[in-house]
Amino acid sequence: MKFIDEFRDPDLARRLIGQIRHEVAAHPTIRPVRLMEFCGGHTHAIFHYGLRQTLEGDVELRSGPGCPVCVTASRDLDTAMALSGVQPDVILATFGDMVRVPGSRGNLQELRAAGADVRIVYSPLDALSLAQANPDREVIFLGVGFETTAPGVAAAVLQAEKVEVPNLSVLSLHKLTPPAMRAILDAGEVALDGIIGPGHVSAVIGSDAWSFLPDDYGIPCAVAGFEPLDLLGAIAALVHAVAEGTPGVFNTYGRSVPPAGNPTAMRMLDQVFDVRAAAWRGFGEIPRSGLVLNAAYAHRDAARRFPVEATDTPEPKGCRCGEVLRGVIEPSACPLFRRVCTPRNPVGPCMVSAEGACAAFYKYSE
Ligand code: SF4
Repeated sequence: MKFIDEFRDPDLARRLIGQIRHEVAAHPTIRPVRLMEFCGGHTHAIFHYGLRQTLEGDVELRSGPGCPVCVTASRDLDTAMALSGVQPDVILATFGDMVRVPGSRGNLQELRAAGADVRIVYSPLDALSLAQANPDREVIFLGVGFETTAPGVAAAVLQAEKVEVPNLSVLSLHKLTPPAMRAILDAGEVALDGIIGPGHVSAVIGSDAWSFLPDDYGIPCAVAGFEPLDLLGAIAALVHAVAEGTPGVFNTYGRSVPPAGNPTAMRMLDQVFDVRAAAWRGFGEIPRSGLVLNAAYAHRDAARRFPVEATDTPEPKGCRCGEVLRGVIEPSACPLFRRVCTPRNPVGPCMVSAEGACAAFYKYSE
């Protein structure tokens, strides 16, 4: 319990809340301080610990696009579904969150019910094990996630090379987070005073990766962990920077996030992937925001090995996930929220995923 209790100390939490309120009261022109938490895990933690309500009036918290399942474009999901049928002996392996996300022609769960071999795995290395156990079949791993999960996929690709398993390929839908943050700020649709930087992503890319926020946009960023004191510490640092007009990068998750990130993970990403433009749900194409297998591993790139036709498809009718992901509206502003769209019957991906903003609002907002 030591490592949990020390980040949930109520006295320290009260002190930080008092500090935030005092700072805003002393600088009334900054009220409310408008912050975006990039990461869907932060959205859930903020709700879970009641931080939105606690800071209401002084700090406004907006959810960002940090849910990799949610930002996977419908077109890419359609590609994944089409890949499961390119050969009768394909096994499509992916993480559990992905199977209920709607594409234009249903989801992977429905495809599985119709007879496709779709397997849920907990790690890309499980997909490698599947390939080893099924040497006569092609295993395609649907790689979805940010900088946090991509190194695991790179490791599985390198391991497949090492142990000479030819029947594993990857449909890489991996995405990079800083370009999405730039896209939100460049669009100017939502006014923001500061950013709560993603904890897990930053453990890989480092807190220094966010220095473009103060340098290019003049706003502060505080990298945060997922415990209440982590988040309150980050919010206090941001409020102070806004009040004093001193933007910078503040690493309040130093126990996990080094300034330069994880060099081993970054090396593996460089070794296996090239950076390319990628389609994001709600954003369209963002330059240099996606990872594709590079030429040395092209023989494991499912998109190149099994080209399938996929076109841009409309979002589910009435779903406003795109605006939710860009922080333009809150889920409760979607007319389908709670009336039609629920975790049991999700219309859009933001209600499906455990990290989705709509799922967080549904679970905690009443
Ligand atoms: S509530 Fe449902 S339909 Fe509305 S934006 Fe969220 S996921 Fe889409």
